[in-house]
Amino acid sequence: MYPTREPPQLPAFNFGRKTLPEEREYTVTTWIQGMQNFDRIGPQLGQSSRDCLLPPDTAHITPTRAEYYTGPEYFGRRRTPSFGGRSPLRSTKRLYNSVSMSAPRVLARLPVSEQLVWVGIDEPTRVYRPRSSRSWSSLSSGSTLLNNEKYDVTDLDDDFGDFHEEYAGLCATQEQLRALQTRYPLPSIPGEKYWKSLWYRHITAYRWLMAIVLLSNLLVMTTVAATATGANLLTTTLMRQEHVINFFYHLACALPRRTPLGVRKFAARLTYNYGGVHAGSAMSALLWYVVYAILVSRDFHGTNAQVKAVSAITAGIVVLFVALTVLSHPSIRRRYHNQWELSHRYGGWTAVALVWPLAETLLHLPTFYFLVAITICLLYPWLRLKRLPVSATYLSTHATRLNFTDRTIPTCRGIRLARNPLLENHGFATIPHAPPLPPNNLKTTQASSSDPEKGYTILISNAGDFTRTLIHSPPSKIWLRGAPTTGVMRLSSLFRPLVIVATGSGIGPCLSFLNTHHGHPLRVLWSARCPAKTYGNGVVREVLRADPRAVVVDTGAVGCARVNLVGLAFALVREVGAEAVMVISNPKVTGEVVFGMERRGVAAFGAVFDS
Ligand SMILES: Cc1cc2nc3c(=O)[nH]c(=O)nc-3n(C[C@H](O)[C@H](O)[C@H](O)COP(=O)(O)OP(=O)(O)OC[C@H]3O[C@@H](n4cnc5c(N)ncnc54)[C@H](O)[C@@H]3O)c2cc1C
Repeated sequence: MYPTREPPQLPAFNFGRKTLPEEREYTVTTWIQGMQNFDRIGPQLGQSSRDCLLPPDTAHITPTRAEYYTGPEYFGRRRTPSFGGRSPLRSTKRLYNSVSMSAPRVLARLPVSEQLVWVGIDEPTRVYRPRSSRSWSSLSSGSTLLNNEKYDVTDLDDDFGDFHEEYAGLCATQEQLRALQTRYPLPSIPGEKYWKSLWYRHITAYRWLMAIVLLSNLLVMTTVAATATGANLLTTTLMRQEHVINFFYHLACALPRRTPLGVRKFAARLTYNYGGVHAGSAMSALLWYVVYAILVSRDFHGTNAQVKAVSAITAGIVVLFVALTVLSHPSIRRRYHNQWELSHRYGGWTAVALVWPLAETLLHLPTFYFLVAITICLLYPWLRLKRLPVSATYLSTHATRLNFTDRTIPTCRGIRLARNPLLENHGFATIPHAPPLPPNNLKTTQASSSDPEKGYTILISNAGDFTRTLIHSPPSKIWLRGAPTTGVMRLSSLFRPLVIVATGSGIGPCLSFLNTHHGHPLRVLWSARCPAKTYGNGVVREVLRADPRAVVVDTGAVGCARVNLVGLAFALVREVGAEAVMVISNPKVTGEVVFGMERRGVAAFGAVFDS
């Protein structure tokens, strides 16, 4: 860090005591260290800390390890001064080579929020050039697509009125979009072979997991069909249990930042495809139950009435399982979503209720304990059923924002809302409040003042009867069932830099990440019809605060058909050397972007739409 008007004063940085002089104003520029080829992004020419939007608590951060270099003197040293860490010599050298050598500079590697970022301390006007071909010399030579920095992002609450006028000029024009894609053209997919398309479109991690579970069931040599059925049913239920899902995400996101990219991609893919295990074990349970039913009909001995009762129960359960499995086929589930959900819920309950009368006969088998665990899992969300007060901020005829004040919520969690919890269940992404920016971004603030206020919001767009009613006649109370569940956006923290692609209200789940990860190196591509008018200024400001150069596309102005999201996403990936693309959109666009990226060698993640 570097006092605004003074030359660098190295002794002022008392890294040894792990303190920074807090009372000063700093001009801070961030360099986000790319994992590959030492690529870097930012800062732009003339960018200040305000433009970089470092978290307000940056100045409080105490470095765990710092490295600084003082220009030409570096070559006279065998080691660069470092504090509290292993020798940074190798990376130092490369880093040093990658920047202009004309002036003294200080670099400190500081933890910012949850992440470590390179914080370069220098005059804000300096342009740094990496050696790599994917340099951001090109980035700094006028690649700022949109001049979004001019917008004021300090007041995030301002959703009302005609303020969207403020954002006239926010959205990219056709020419700007074309320029971006011309600079980084979308390569054609190499050798469009049938099996390759098949691989990327159909042989997904979800299906791999499903197949693995099915195959392992076939390989398991057990004669105890009841145990196998129970184990599979328990797995099926656990794969939909909120805390189990949260735990998987927690494990994946706990991977250290230095973990090789391939491992992080693999972990991310496994994590958000956990539904494959749910589907695979459900099908296995059906198969095992059929075996069990055959064995029971052959071996059961009892009075005529007992035989009839047992046969009726087993046959009833087989019918239920078959119906649940068939109705869960993606095409049926998508078309008759509400019916599918009701059948899944009440069918599942009925199956479990039918087994309980036989519990005594299962007492000596593990199946009994599986049954108990399954029952607890089914009851759990209902034990947490709450009727919460809610207020709505009407944004437009297409969207509203519901405000909850009952609690603060961790990043990237979804909740299930209903007017009548017995009949419906609608999932939405929660958006934690962003911590307020200090009045002057450059000044240090008390840590407490940057704490986000209690509560969270959800963004809702008109997608059917339930959401339409919420928009036009919002309730004052609403039912919330179960615990908040982590969603796919959580995996964004594994990749840096990252490109986030959202359409319409898909920006809601993205904000859940953006509001809680200020400073995460990322670019946002958001395509929506009249974004500020439809979703309000608050949403736009939150987007700009996370990425001042966000590419916001107004499909009302440029026409949906003319927007090539795959091409734009790819251009942004190239521009910042992103490690991955995260997409939140409808199933069609999600599939297109994920396929378009993966076929070009870019990791991409989007929801699997299996519930
Ligand atoms: C994990 C997850 C969480 C979600 N959470 C929420 C939530 O909390 N609240 C909520 O309301 N919805 C949520 N959704 C639903 C999701 O936001 C919508 O399916 C999606 O974003 C489409 O938005 P839409 O329904 O407004 O309409 P759409 O018609 O699907 O699209 C809206 C706009 O997107 C743009 N667009 C669409 N297709 C293209 C294209 N091919 N090229 C360029 N622009 C395009 C257009 O401007 C269009 O007007 C979630 C989805 C996922 C996967």
